[in-house]
Amino acid sequence: MNKGRIIVFSAPSGCGKGTMLGEILKDERFHLSVSATTRAPREGEKDGVNYHFITREDFMKRVDNGEFLEHAEYCDNLYGTLRSEVIPFIEEGKNVILEIEVKGAMQMREKYPDAMFVFIAPPSMAEIRRRLLKRGTETEDVIEKRIAQATMELGYAQDYDYIIVNDALEDAVADFFTVIRAEQLRAPFRSDHIDEVRKNA
Ligand code: 5GP
Repeated sequence: MNKGRIIVFSAPSGCGKGTMLGEILKDERFHLSVSATTRAPREGEKDGVNYHFITREDFMKRVDNGEFLEHAEYCDNLYGTLRSEVIPFIEEGKNVILEIEVKGAMQMREKYPDAMFVFIAPPSMAEIRRRLLKRGTETEDVIEKRIAQATMELGYAQDYDYIIVNDALEDAVADFFTVIRAEQLRAPFRSDHIDEVRKNA
């Protein structure tokens, strides 16, 4: 069986990445890695489903044990991708999506250059602010911090393989499946087929 791909999927807060992922994950070829974080759960979030919510001490112990593929600090909390959430699924042939911020993505770029890197951009900064206010889960202070963070993150967009603008959800999801298909057709991933054809020539 062919192995799956790692898909690094980043977007500043308020880019509608959660809604996009909801649509993408209806397709069973994709699996979402559940990250570990030291952030407190938001209302409705479940341990082991949205994140593995752990203490800073536990997080650092796991860093020392080499349990993370990448980890980074974001708005005063630690976030990391656990090896155990990714590698077994790749072996099973699933495409594993890592929904992570830019610093972690750049670590993945170094360690896993074969991964696919997708950046979700907003149509405008005004739209980010509007979406964050509408969500209503953060205080004004946190929103301002996330907007500053978003501005910084946009500076990394060019380091990704693909940039998808999430203006209309349906179009953004369609763009995602288009780049997935294009990736599948790239020559480095087609050698099995060419070998097979030549063997039977
Ligand atoms: P939130 O607190 O809104 O759930 O996530 C904040 C940021 O952390 C988002 O940009 C999200 O993509 C990022 N994040 C979530 N999990 C991970 C992870 O495992 N590693 C890294 N580097 N960032 C993550």
